Amino acid sequence: MRVMGKLKLAIVYGAICGGCDVSLVNTGEKLADVLEKYDIVYWGAAIDGKADMLEKLDKIDVAIYMGTVRTESNLKYAKLIRDKADLVVAYGACAVYGGIPGLGALMEPEEIMKIVSSTVTTESKEEIDLPEELKLPRILPTCTSLVEILDPDVMAPGCPPGPISNDGLLKVLIDYAAGKKPEGKIIFGEEQSLCHECPRKPKDLSKIVMPGIYRLHEIKLEEGKCFLEQGILCMGPATRAACDMPCIKNNMPCIGCMGPAPGVDDVGLKYLSAIASILLVDKEKELLENGLARHLDKIVDPLGMFYRYTLPSSYITKLSIKRRKKRG
Ligand code: SF4
Repeated sequence: MRVMGKLKLAIVYGAICGGCDVSLVNTGEKLADVLEKYDIVYWGAAIDGKADMLEKLDKIDVAIYMGTVRTESNLKYAKLIRDKADLVVAYGACAVYGGIPGLGALMEPEEIMKIVSSTVTTESKEEIDLPEELKLPRILPTCTSLVEILDPDVMAPGCPPGPISNDGLLKVLIDYAAGKKPEGKIIFGEEQSLCHECPRKPKDLSKIVMPGIYRLHEIKLEEGKCFLEQGILCMGPATRAACDMPCIKNNMPCIGCMGPAPGVDDVGLKYLSAIASILLVDKEKELLENGLARHLDKIVDPLGMFYRYTLPSSYITKLSIKRRKKRG
């Protein structure tokens, strides 16, 4: 590792919406202090340059990857940073877990392209024969997080990452510039679920009773009371405590962007089992007569709800990929 002069920092994109960039830039002066010690050798949003600049670099000290790995080009640059950078950071829910673009993980690429093409409005019906370098990169058979592709050293979850991830990352960058590389893998946040830190948590988390399943517009929310106790789906029980709870504090339930709580392999399965064990547990007779399914049917888009940020790493996606490979 270099100890003299500035270090080389590259910020590289996969399939990204831009929110990660905004979050990083919003750290303001703190980021400016860190950048005293780094030369930005690549960052699409901040410096003029083309992606092949990365290929020309011999070595990068730190690479921050934002976004999901969705196209051949995303994959190429993900592998390239692992080869060239000493420290790789997966920044944001998409890089760490697959995120919102990861919701396409179960669809065939052709299906996705069909939907995208149907939204493009053009007068011309002619196929334009573009030179190779101007063509859109081909999309991969499925959508993957950076974590599934390579082994990042640091993971900063969040959609977008909030103060816990950002402060943690900036500290890692400062330490690294001072010659201290993190020992082992780092994921920012606490080793517990969001419920444990939530100001709305009931006295006894193990005694939550869900009175049914409602959508936000169907009830008048009681501020300060646990969402689950009001029948609103809140992903707190299955989500890592790694944010300063902007949603909860603004009277909105957690949607799980910090990824799985420690010990949770599959967010959707964990959440479904949590819901099944608290839904109408005080109304045994009704459950025996009508069953649980009638109530669970009220969940609109269960896959999108339970796996909003983690579909690529779910068992269901892994199974589907296996089946697709078998079919050839
Ligand atoms: Fe807080 Fe949601 Fe957990 Fe209830 S379920 S304690 S509202 S994070």
